[in-house]
Amino acid sequence: MASPAPIMIPTEPIGSIPRPVDLIERVGSGNIEDPNLSPLYEDAIRDTIERFEAAGSPVVTDGEQRKYHNFATYCVHGLPNTAPDGFKIPFSDGHTRRLSRLTRGPFRYMRYADCYLEVAMQYAHVPVKQAVISPSALSLMYPAEAIPDYSREQFIDDLLREHETEIRRCLRKGAYKVQIDFTEGRLAVKIDPSGHLLSSFIDLNNLALSRLSPEERRRVGVHTCPGNDLDSTHSADVDYSELLPSLFELEAANFYIALAGEPDRRHALKVIGRYRKPDQRIFVGVTAPIDPHIETPEEVRDRVLEASEYIPVEYLGTTDDCGFSPFGDDTSTSRDTAFAKIQARVLGTKLAEKLIGGDS
Ligand SMILES: [Zn+2]
Repeated sequence: MASPAPIMIPTEPIGSIPRPVDLIERVGSGNIEDPNLSPLYEDAIRDTIERFEAAGSPVVTDGEQRKYHNFATYCVHGLPNTAPDGFKIPFSDGHTRRLSRLTRGPFRYMRYADCYLEVAMQYAHVPVKQAVISPSALSLMYPAEAIPDYSREQFIDDLLREHETEIRRCLRKGAYKVQIDFTEGRLAVKIDPSGHLLSSFIDLNNLALSRLSPEERRRVGVHTCPGNDLDSTHSADVDYSELLPSLFELEAANFYIALAGEPDRRHALKVIGRYRKPDQRIFVGVTAPIDPHIETPEEVRDRVLEASEYIPVEYLGTTDDCGFSPFGDDTSTSRDTAFAKIQARVLGTKLAEKLIGGDS
C-alpha cells in the first residue's frame, strides 16, 4: 500500500526577540541613535539569527533588534512633525504605552522595514520574514481635532501609499512573508464594543491590501493578539467571537493568531473553524511569551492536534502567540526563555506532523 503523502505544517515566528541585556541598558542610558551602538545592534542581530537557526527554525526574523522603541512606531521614529503625547495603549497591569501624535502634514515614513530585512538576509541561511505595522495602528497618530491644511483624507492617502511602498519593498527584497501587526484589532473591540472602530480598521487595512496583487497577498499575513508587554495584555478579555469574524474579512492569505494563552482554546478554535475563509491559512499560537513556563514539545504537539480538529491540516501552521518583546526595553522574558520556547514550537510541530501524517 502506498504511504500517505507527507504532511507539512509550516511554523513561523512573529518577530521580536528580547534584546541582549547589555544592549537594553546601553539604549536606556543614552541616545538610541548613538553610532557607537551600531556594533552592538549588529552582534545582536547576528546572534539572534544564529540562535533561531540553532533552534531549527525554518523561518527566522532579525528579532526586531533595531526597531527603535517598539514594533509600531519604528517607521516614524524621528519624524519632526510629531509630538510624544499621542494615543495611549492601556495594559491590564495599569501601565501604558504611547504612540506619537502627528502635529502637521505631511505624513511620511522615516524608513521602511526592508532596511532590517536586508541586514537579516546577510546573516540568515533560511528564509527571513518581516513584520510591518498596520495602517490602522498608524491611523491613530492623526489627532481627533483635524490638522489645519492637512485633512484626515490626505493623511490616509499618504499613510496607505507609505504602507504599500513598505510591503512592496520587503517583498521585492525577498521577504518570505510580510506580516502586518494588527494588535490594535482586538483592542478596538475593547475601546468601542459597538464594533465600529474595528470595522473602520478592517476597511482601512483592506484598502491597503487591495493594492496588492493576488500573488503578493499570498505572501502577506496578519497577526492578532491581546498585546504583550511586561507580561501584561491590553485586550485579553475581548472574546474572539467579537473579533475573528471581522478579522477574516481581511484580504490576506495568512493569519497568525494568539491561542496558547487563551483561557478556552477550543472556544477560540470553534470560532476560527466557523469563520475562516476556505483559502486562509491559520498559524495558531502554540507557545505563550507571556507565560514563564517553557512549553514542552509534547504540549505543543497536543495543541497542534487539537487545532487540527477545527482547521484542515493543509491550512494549518504554528507560531508563537506574539513577539517575545514587542517593546524593546521589556526584560520580562529572557533571550534563553524565548529560544527555548521557539525550539519547543519547532520540535512539537514536527511531532504533530509525524502523527498526522501517520509516519510513526
Ligand atoms: Zn502580538
